[in-house]
Amino acid sequence: MTTTVAFIGLGHMGGPMAANLVAAGHRVLGHDLVESALAKAVANGVEAAGSAAEAAAVADVVITMLPAGRHVLSLYGQGLLAAARPGTLFVDCSTIDVADSRAAHAAAEEAGHRSLDAPVSGGVVGAEAGTLTFMAGGEEAAFARAEPLLSVMGRKAVHCGGAGAGQAAKICNNMILGVSMIAVSEAFVLAESLGLSDQALYDVASAASGQCWALTVNCPVPGPVPTSPANRDYRPGFAAPLMAKDLGLAANALRSGGIDAQLGLKAAELYERFAEGAGAEQDFSGIVRAIRAASSKSTAPQEGTTA
Ligand code: NAD
Repeated sequence: MTTTVAFIGLGHMGGPMAANLVAAGHRVLGHDLVESALAKAVANGVEAAGSAAEAAAVADVVITMLPAGRHVLSLYGQGLLAAARPGTLFVDCSTIDVADSRAAHAAAEEAGHRSLDAPVSGGVVGAEAGTLTFMAGGEEAAFARAEPLLSVMGRKAVHCGGAGAGQAAKICNNMILGVSMIAVSEAFVLAESLGLSDQALYDVASAASGQCWALTVNCPVPGPVPTSPANRDYRPGFAAPLMAKDLGLAANALRSGGIDAQLGLKAAELYERFAEGAGAEQDFSGIVRAIRAASSKSTAPQEGTTA
């Protein structure tokens, strides 16, 4: 069945997601503030709408793929919800704060619409290939209605629970990933200082209880896993600023929930610093270089001191 979709936010992720919907035979009206993003989507068969509200007015489903919660909430508040026909399904695929997501759900429902949060993992490669994983939150009926579209843009969609549950799943997963990447990176730097080769540590830990995705898929040192970003000078992959963003969202939720998650909070702090400096353009596994650099500084003999 052909669905008319309003797609708002046609950037790195939204552009290819919208193109996949068009390729599957859906009518997609798109909007983005950046002219070049809109032009690229139009070249892939998306119809340019004059505004987000204009697209929403004729849509069965409105999908947003925006940088942060403030963009979603301000669009919802500035006429997007009001322009849509009653009963329109709003699917927010952006990664945003759990509290913002719940506020977006409430606003959509108050305006007489259905609502789903459906953040993704899989990155730009997954968006282009249509192999994303969606983590969804909202009513069962909203999930069921969105599923045919999610299955075009992704390979897997998990209904995680009520409003905001998709965002909650995303930040919990990425907190595990951020903390484990730092742990794996620290272990490699320690091994190097103890005279243990990267390959020897990999051979042991990958077959022992240190095994994890950060080690065996996205290994932060070049060599043991030839496909990991470390082998191409840490070109992303999953860019460090995106990890910093997700850990920042996790940190907000940890603080407001009063959770004693010391490693999660520390990982957020370390990734924020890394992403603002050397890591701005690197894969998140590049944090191993920051750890190595800071270690050599602190262990090097200080001028004017005696051992
Ligand atoms: P992006 O910056 O490339 O795209 C966002 C787009 O939204 C931009 O083109 C921007 O112009 C547009 N936009 C902002 N405000 C708008 C408005 N009011 N009206 C219309 N358009 C507006 O970002 P992205 O990499 O595509 O990421 C989008 C979301 O997906 C983010 O929440 C991000 O955290 C999440 N995400 C990204 C990745 C990734 O690998 N890039 C992976 C998983 C999740």
